[in-house]
Amino acid sequence: MLEIMTIPVTPIAQNCRVLVHPETQDAVVVDPGGEGQTVAGIIKNQDLHLKAILLTHGHIDHCGAVAELRQQFDEEIPVIGPHQDEAELLTALPQQATFFGLKFSGAFEPQYVSDGQVLKLFEDASLTCLHTPGHTPGGICYYCAEERFVLVGDTIFLDSIGRTDLPGGDTQTLFASIKSKLLTLPDDTDVFCGHGDDTNIGRERRCNPYLCTL
Ligand SMILES: [Zn+2]
Ligand SMILES: [Zn+2]
Repeated sequence: MLEIMTIPVTPIAQNCRVLVHPETQDAVVVDPGGEGQTVAGIIKNQDLHLKAILLTHGHIDHCGAVAELRQQFDEEIPVIGPHQDEAELLTALPQQATFFGLKFSGAFEPQYVSDGQVLKLFEDASLTCLHTPGHTPGGICYYCAEERFVLVGDTIFLDSIGRTDLPGGDTQTLFASIKSKLLTLPDDTDVFCGHGDDTNIGRERRCNPYLCTL
């Protein structure tokens, strides 16, 4: 079983995650939006091997510390995701930083992923990329079928859904993504959200007020 650490970063408490394989000590960081030094410190203190940085989408609170983290380890550490359609938002990270008053540690070239692509980052657990536009055009959720969890960024939250009023957002597209890509997952799939508490697919299918009519 992968161990999943949650590190709230930035003043808006974005849930940066560190996925750790308990035997190999391989680690993958998902959405290092800020506090790169803290995240790096946890990885170093536990002697983990940082293999990759994964991004769910191109908002500054999810990408702000990518460069800072790479500088602490290896500038060549792959940055994987989101989808190609996010390129414009990633180019605008310095402007996003100014707009939201958050720190941007520097530019990076990600390896864009496509819908359905499978990432073999750990010996016995893989992540399937689900393209889920709506909150942003190129948002990606990462689904681990072996361990029944999905990292959803800002696509869906406990009792809520991602905002669609920022550039590239679209409400109908978001509903369609949630319906076709997330509500089709098994009910006992743990949902790790970009902000706030975690949930699971069954609970949101039954109780999420935005999804009752889907
Ligand atoms: Zn976002
Ligand atoms: Zn966010």
